[in-house]
Amino acid sequence: MSSTDPPTAVGDAPTLTARRLDGLGDRVFGSRPASDGDGSARLDVFAPATDERIGSVPACDADDVDAAVERARGAQEAWAETPAEERARIVNRFGDLVADRREELLDVLQVETGKSRRTAVEELFDVPTGCSYVASEAPDALAEERRRGIAPGVTTATVTREPVGVVGVISPWNYPLTLSMADAIPALAAGNAVVIKPDEKTPYGALLLAELLEVAGLPDDLFQVVTGEGPTVGPPLIDAVDYVAFTGSTATGRTIAERAGRNLIGCSLELGGNNPLVVCGDVDADEAARGAVQACFSNVGQLCLSAERVYVVESVYDEFLDAFVRETESLTLGTGYDYDADLGSLVDADQLARVESHVDDARDRGATVETGGRARPDVAPYCYEPTVLTGVEPDSTVACEETFGPVAAVTPVPDAAAAVAAANDSPYGLNASVWTGDRERGAELAREIDCGTVNVNDAFLATWGAVDAPMGGFGDSGLGRRHGPEGIRRYTETRTVGVSRVGPLTFPERIPTDWFVRGAFAAMRVGRRARRSVGAVRRRLSRR
Ligand code: NAD
Repeated sequence: MSSTDPPTAVGDAPTLTARRLDGLGDRVFGSRPASDGDGSARLDVFAPATDERIGSVPACDADDVDAAVERARGAQEAWAETPAEERARIVNRFGDLVADRREELLDVLQVETGKSRRTAVEELFDVPTGCSYVASEAPDALAEERRRGIAPGVTTATVTREPVGVVGVISPWNYPLTLSMADAIPALAAGNAVVIKPDEKTPYGALLLAELLEVAGLPDDLFQVVTGEGPTVGPPLIDAVDYVAFTGSTATGRTIAERAGRNLIGCSLELGGNNPLVVCGDVDADEAARGAVQACFSNVGQLCLSAERVYVVESVYDEFLDAFVRETESLTLGTGYDYDADLGSLVDADQLARVESHVDDARDRGATVETGGRARPDVAPYCYEPTVLTGVEPDSTVACEETFGPVAAVTPVPDAAAAVAAANDSPYGLNASVWTGDRERGAELAREIDCGTVNVNDAFLATWGAVDAPMGGFGDSGLGRRHGPEGIRRYTETRTVGVSRVGPLTFPERIPTDWFVRGAFAAMRVGRRARRSVGAVRRRLSRR
């Protein structure tokens, strides 16, 4: 659509027009209109709620990626020299703008993902929260640090942190705002430029955020968006940048890691999961069922932290299952731009086919569908009912692979220890949830579960929302961590500066070498003893 066409409504979104979306598409290649590039290849974008085409964005190629990275690199040097406090101010302003412009952002999110407005607003809360944390933490996380020298008074050691340069962010479609910004904002705060490749299904959220970053005062060219197919845009991006932050499937994550490894650049990989939820025998079954509904069906299960395997101690199994099915059946489906519906649509036909095939496979192997188990084209083309399965065979696809849809398999287990063993029987290790009447016991069980985040009496927000604490996966669920100071420092190179206060550290000329060696080992023994005592006192104090 050209800019002279009259605005047409997109879906039912009240404030969005096709012209607005095309205008966002023109932001690819910095602020130049797409037609200044070769402009020929474009990717159509569809609204999952209606399956209508809502616009198109440039299908970038390797040359476009190189040009975007070059521009970003040109802007990065001055940004690295900008004081961390000033960078943090821009991050904070951006967070405020996201909150102020929430209605338009919510419309964009809904139109390109098909999610309900309730889910969209949960996602939107996350961006300003993350910005506030990064803005307050980054200056300290990046500050110079004094470390112990060789021996007191002999040398000093100071660690400085420098930005790596240009960070490539490759993000998925399920939470396009939060999963772009959770990686991009700390990278910018640490003094880097960012080139982001959003998923081809959901480019508009990242493009609108690029606009808001500019309004917030981010210098030109520092944040670039390259739209296009993953296998076309991803490899040249990894070849051109200094670090890659990837969120997506485990299969793609492996190819990213291989390429980053060849280039000897750092990478963080936030990958898939097949997350367990454990219900202990001492639980309030109604409360656990409400929590399980949130854990399993938020964003119709298209959430990396979603629980898909539910292990329930036998003594509460019947009571829990009744409550879980009842709560699941009370969920409402819809794609309106209001807060009426709990759940929206799956993202596309492929995702619907995946969910259907996992449920059909479980059913064919004898599983019972307690509720759900069918598509709802009457609501939207890719809607699927939240589904509870029991009697799922351990080798069913739904038990072994990530469904990434609204499907939960509930299995009885004799006790909490068996639940933990079942929870750990997976190559993944992203997120887990434990429900119990005894919080302390819950925290103990949590320490036995092999996942990067474990929530006690909560679905996932207790850990995801704790932005000061690291977040990431064990095993096939990833590498590296976002959030916390480590989520900022991953985008830096450390430099250790050692200064000698006594001249060259070599054998002294005026002392016989054998005397010196004897003295040095004696001093070392005293130093090691002193360090052990100080460490023990420190540990004792920290336990108080
Ligand atoms: P995907 O791996 O297919 O795509 C993710 C991104 O990678 C997209 O931008 C895509 O275009 C790009 N891509 C695809 N092929 C590429 C290639 N060869 N080189 C470079 N980039 C490429 O993921 P998906 O299936 O669309 O997303 C869902 C998956 O993401 C699920 O497995 C989910 O669990 C996972 N996920 C993980 C987290 C987390 O934080 N751990 C968060 C959200 C989603």
